[in-house]
Amino acid sequence: MMDQARSNVIDPHLKRRSKRPHIVVVGAGFGGLAAAKKLANIEADVTVVDRLNHHTFQPLLYQVATAGLAVDDVCYATRGIFKKAKNIRVRHGAVSEIDLENKRLFIGDENDVLEYDKLILACGAVTSDFGIEGVADFGFGLKTAAEAINLRNHILTNFERVARYNSLNADQSPELTTVVVAGGGPTGVELAGGVIELFDRVLSKDFPDIDMSKARVVLVEAGPRLLSAMNEKLSDKARKRLEKMGVEIMVNSAVELVDENSVKLQDGTVLHSNTLVWAAGVKANPLGQALGVETVAGGRIVVDSDLSLPGNPDVFVIGDVAATKWLDDKLVPQMATGAIQMGEYVGDTLRRSVAPDTSEQTDIGPFEYKDKGAMATVGRNTGLVELPNGLRVSGWAGWVAWLGLHVLMLMGFRNRANVMVNWAWNYLTYDRGSRIIVE
Ligand SMILES: Cc1cc2nc3c(=O)[nH]c(=O)nc-3n(C[C@H](O)[C@H](O)[C@H](O)COP(=O)(O)OP(=O)(O)OC[C@H]3O[C@@H](n4cnc5c(N)ncnc54)[C@H](O)[C@@H]3O)c2cc1C
Repeated sequence: MMDQARSNVIDPHLKRRSKRPHIVVVGAGFGGLAAAKKLANIEADVTVVDRLNHHTFQPLLYQVATAGLAVDDVCYATRGIFKKAKNIRVRHGAVSEIDLENKRLFIGDENDVLEYDKLILACGAVTSDFGIEGVADFGFGLKTAAEAINLRNHILTNFERVARYNSLNADQSPELTTVVVAGGGPTGVELAGGVIELFDRVLSKDFPDIDMSKARVVLVEAGPRLLSAMNEKLSDKARKRLEKMGVEIMVNSAVELVDENSVKLQDGTVLHSNTLVWAAGVKANPLGQALGVETVAGGRIVVDSDLSLPGNPDVFVIGDVAATKWLDDKLVPQMATGAIQMGEYVGDTLRRSVAPDTSEQTDIGPFEYKDKGAMATVGRNTGLVELPNGLRVSGWAGWVAWLGLHVLMLMGFRNRANVMVNWAWNYLTYDRGSRIIVE
């Protein structure tokens, strides 16, 4: 049970003498928020620290990048989430270092110190370029709202440039109207579908003088098939549907080199494009690796069955940054569903540990991941869903299931309502209201 004896510490954030234990949650993503919500109004002070001032609903970022949704449809101010929780404070700032020995962490510079009794590390993952030359310099990531807007700006600006060249009777440069998406997982598949729809249904009308037959979307996957985590039949359906929509698919093709205007593949193919979107992989946030604790491939931190750090029961690691055992040879996948379950589990554990009524201070046993299956959407009207019992749903029914689940998972009524209205508008009018270049 949590040691209540941390006496008379002046917490630099809370600015008062607090005898209650202090729980710090690093990261207001899926895992951190799920944990913090469980800790609302308990007998402990809780501080949620995030380098961004908002929670990001990453699964819908591709729709921001392709002008289907506005950025504040998929982001939610963290302070707003906890406004009714009297014991929770929010800090906006990037944690730069964690000092496990002295139970404190540093935000930004070393003068900004936060002490903790219990720490929940939920800082997620970052894009991994696997050391491929040029990806970091010229590729576009899709992990944050800023990156999604950056990509949208870039695609729209490219078309404006082509329109300008056309008016000067110059040749249409192929690199400006070709988008290469690297990575055939759900993010790559959804993004490729979203971009081709943006080209076909929106930009073709916005730019009547541009020769759209030269606009290309190429999806490059290093493995033999798309959506490799799903059944082969679903992966086949995704491929056929994307090809029908006009996406060029290259499997068994790995990116070797990227520069400002081209993407070179290992087989020597050169794709003339100044837009490479990197959806090929992530690695755990380096903040975790800097702790000097045991990690596995991808930098994920090894945790005990209660999600605490081995030998350090005051520190919990959850979500994409944790290497949590699931089946004998498997780790919990780096997905929102896993992060949420881990967050709820640790939140429950800590909430019970400070419960005033000792009968509530029960041990909840080891963490058990419940597989919720996988889903992806391929443009409008096609969704692919695979449930843990093997049941597969595809086509329109799968698409409706995908829409429903994403709306339910979104934060806040306003965001849900906005997303539904925007989707209905886009569906009925084939329009994309958010095709704004933010300069
Ligand atoms: C484009 C995309 C689409 C996806 N689609 C799906 C999907 O359809 N279904 C699904 O289940 N999963 C999906 N995922 C994966 C899912 O989003 C992640 O597994 C999930 O977000 C992990 O939750 P988390 O809490 O570990 O990390 P995150 O949700 O990434 O949150 C980490 C938080 O930590 C903060 N942070 C990072 N570093 C610091 C620091 N130094 N100091 C302070 N704060 C910091 C970040 O700002 C962030 O808010 C998708 C991911 C992406 C990128």
